[in-house]
Amino acid sequence: MAKYIMALDAGTTSNRCILFNAQGEMCSMAQKEFTQYFPQPGWVEQDAMEIWSSQLEVAQQAMANVGANASDIAAIGITNQRETTIVWDKATGHPIHPAIVWQCRRTSDYCDQLKEKGLTDSFRAKTGLVIDAYFSATKLRWLLEHVPGARQRAQRGELLFGTVETWLIWKLTGGAVHVTDYSNASRTMLFNIHTLQWDEEILAELDIPRCMLPEPKPSSCIYGHALPQFFGGPIPISGTAGDQQAALFGHACFAPGEAKNTYGTGCFLLMNTGETPVTSQHGLVTTIAWGLDGKVEYALEGSIFVAGAAIQWLRDELQFIGSAAESEYLAQKVPDTHGCYVVPAFTGLGAPHWDQYARGTIVGLTRGCNRCHIVRATLDSLCYQVNDVLTAMEADSGIQPAALKVDGGASANDYIMQTQADLSAIPVERPSCVESTAMGAAYLAGLAVGFWKNKEELARSRTGSQMFTPRLEETARIKRIKGWNKAVRCAYDWARED
Ligand code: ADP
Repeated sequence: MAKYIMALDAGTTSNRCILFNAQGEMCSMAQKEFTQYFPQPGWVEQDAMEIWSSQLEVAQQAMANVGANASDIAAIGITNQRETTIVWDKATGHPIHPAIVWQCRRTSDYCDQLKEKGLTDSFRAKTGLVIDAYFSATKLRWLLEHVPGARQRAQRGELLFGTVETWLIWKLTGGAVHVTDYSNASRTMLFNIHTLQWDEEILAELDIPRCMLPEPKPSSCIYGHALPQFFGGPIPISGTAGDQQAALFGHACFAPGEAKNTYGTGCFLLMNTGETPVTSQHGLVTTIAWGLDGKVEYALEGSIFVAGAAIQWLRDELQFIGSAAESEYLAQKVPDTHGCYVVPAFTGLGAPHWDQYARGTIVGLTRGCNRCHIVRATLDSLCYQVNDVLTAMEADSGIQPAALKVDGGASANDYIMQTQADLSAIPVERPSCVESTAMGAAYLAGLAVGFWKNKEELARSRTGSQMFTPRLEETARIKRIKGWNKAVRCAYDWARED
């Protein structure tokens, strides 16, 4: 009997591998960072060969840590940084260019052209997304335009496109399998999330040859087998989802209205909306959560650019704290923020405000404000921003989540968790295993091979969460949110040329 599911977590800055046992416990972990390249301001690249080699290395290391061989691994699940775009030669397996990372802004101008052509509504209706350089479509077009001969070679069927999970599956299967899953496909801006097909009109608009795209598949099914040369025997690869969707699954947010937020450098809030794709009127995107059990489920997603990064700013630029964890202690040395608000709009504001000209601000300062008040107001700013997205989600979907499940580095901060519960009037649930992303990939892979029976069994196996219950009186809550809204208005539009 196989003992483990292997989860490959191909992140933006590092690759990890975690082995989970049948109880969902972490039994082994290995991690390796890889190089980031910044060839021009706003451009971000990675070496796809390094992504592959470091991912393979940590997988082998995680197995060696516990003396596992291939027969101990029931299946491999993959979760990945989304949208990052790789094009490679089908015959040699060599990428034709460095991977263009999701953060890369090189196609912003082209996105503006698409918007000026009036394509915003049709793209949104088909893909669920707003036209933005963030998604893969325009990155892929850029590669076809800028790498000499690429479009002709792609048309001749010599080149393949993939996001990171597609690339890893192709490599693990020795080039035999070229697939993606619906959750990752829904982040390319080339995929029709209603018909579950690559969209011919968008492909024509961007001049992308259909033959280079992977086959879209459910998120939990056997795609193929890793070659024996990698792990000493073949292992089925049977689950994949983009990192945020995998985290939603790892939190067992299986029912409509269940939501999770990841408090990392930025924040990613996703709410399951079931089999109905909800089109946002409030600046959120619609995404495929996963394809499972013969159906597809959708999520509303809102991203916040600066969250944990604001705590790094307190530490590195202001030097108000020695470590991120110290912020919790200082914030609680004072009973409130003394009327001040920090709006950390350092790179503009994301969902639901979408103001790329907004900039950071501190308002409401009086003579009595000290370091602790500003630290506290900065921690509060994470909660206010998350609350704005939650409010938008409720308005779009008509559903008020019963609880908010959390993970990510800043979710370790009890002050932030309690403040979130208070400001959003929602219980906040922090699981004991915060590796929800890898857990989600493991769950998807394990379900496909019968390692776990069904979602109900997974939901039951989750124990030991810590709950933060709302304690703030409603009038005080409304007053604080009103103050925040006023502060955000001060941040709007600051960097626009007059
Ligand atoms: P990412 O995956 O985006 O790199 P992580 O989930 O690793 O992010 O979280 C890192 C972020 O969490 C950092 O921005 C850091 O400032 C913040 N962070 C870590 N620990 C704490 C803490 N105890 N309190 C507040 N913020 C924290």
